[in-house]
Amino acid sequence: MTVTNKCDLCHRSICCRYITQHIDTPRSKLDFELLLWQISHQNIEIYKDKDGWFLLFHTSCHHLLDDGRCGIYHQRPQICRDYSNDYCEYDAPADEGFERYFRNYDELLAYCQQRFKRWRK
Ligand code: SF4
Ligand code: SF4
Repeated sequence: MTVTNKCDLCHRSICCRYITQHIDTPRSKLDFELLLWQISHQNIEIYKDKDGWFLLFHTSCHHLLDDGRCGIYHQRPQICRDYSNDYCEYDAPADEGFERYFRNYDELLAYCQQRFKRWRK
């Protein structure tokens, strides 16, 4: 397998099935209350890595074809063109690089209760 044919072999096309949004580093209870609301919604997770905190939306791109190819390959957005497959989700799950990873409301709530001594019960 080479970087040239790697994407052809990756039928799950994992990199086309989510988006991320960088967010300000949460510090206050109010910040975490907002994150608790956001993570209460379907397909939303939150993580922190070396680049900071992010919302993670598990949602497939409308242009992803059934065979795993891009339906607008020649017009695809710049971020898709810039994405390198040198070492991607085909090689290892993205969460290997996460310093914190909250997959649901309960996980984030437990973190809030540990971080803030006076967090509401
Ligand atoms: S960049 Fe990686 S995850 Fe995305 S389609 Fe290519 S091999 Fe798969
Ligand atoms: S535009 Fe194409 S390459 Fe970009 S996320 Fe959608 S399917 Fe993937």
